[in-house]
Amino acid sequence: MNSSPLDLRLSNVSVRYGAVAALDAVSIEVRRGEIVTILGANGAGKTTLMRAITGLVPLVGGEIHLDGRRLDGLAPHRIAREGIGVVPEGRKVYARLSVRENLLMGSRLSRSTVPEHARLEQVLGRFPALRTRMNESGALLSGGEQQMVALGRALMTTPKVLLMDEPSLGLAPMMIDEVFRVIGELRESGVTILLVEQNATMALDIADRAYVLQTGKLVASGTAAGLRHASTVADAYLGVI
Ligand code: ATP
Repeated sequence: MNSSPLDLRLSNVSVRYGAVAALDAVSIEVRRGEIVTILGANGAGKTTLMRAITGLVPLVGGEIHLDGRRLDGLAPHRIAREGIGVVPEGRKVYARLSVRENLLMGSRLSRSTVPEHARLEQVLGRFPALRTRMNESGALLSGGEQQMVALGRALMTTPKVLLMDEPSLGLAPMMIDEVFRVIGELRESGVTILLVEQNATMALDIADRAYVLQTGKLVASGTAAGLRHASTVADAYLGVI
């Protein structure tokens, strides 16, 4: 098998929506244990990048590999089983299902040999507030609680790489701090994370490395600390800092 230290590698990935080049020859690496963040203005292609990795849009060029195994061309559920976990934009917690049912949905996609009940206990250990809400419907949860369910559901798949699409979107400031605290904890426990975030300052504070997308093209990349001080990034995405 492949002994590469990389977890996830996108090579010259291109995606089109009709005449729109949403991604144009984008190459990105996420190495084991890293938090990598993707920054970019509205319409830059960040969500398309997530959709390309998860198999929801076809590539018109390029390849995507996870630990040396090719992902592009596989169906979304196969890609999930290969080890890509997703916390989607808008969280997508099922309102008609209970918290328990939402969490267990992720479980079916896991290849882990750890039994389901033990994985559920791990998730509840991380999000103890969910323990008393397990039989409630997803519709009754606050935005912050939904984010915890979406994260828990993704962790139930025991992903090799966790994709997070704008996890702070629409949350109250205290909940945003909580979400970033959890992201930090996940990193400490060795989870590899690809984070798309509109809150560039917080994303660069927590990330190891970052890429900047502009209308489908990569325009900058480097360590998060280095990019935080690069004037193009600061001007375009960080506002006054
Ligand atoms: P946002 O922060 O607003 O979600 P984004 O960086 O995630 O933006 P994408 O949603 O990936 O950007 O969009 C990239 C480009 O592709 C934009 O020009 C957008 O208008 C276009 N686009 C996205 N989805 C579709 C679609 N289903 N059909 C046609 N064009 C699309």
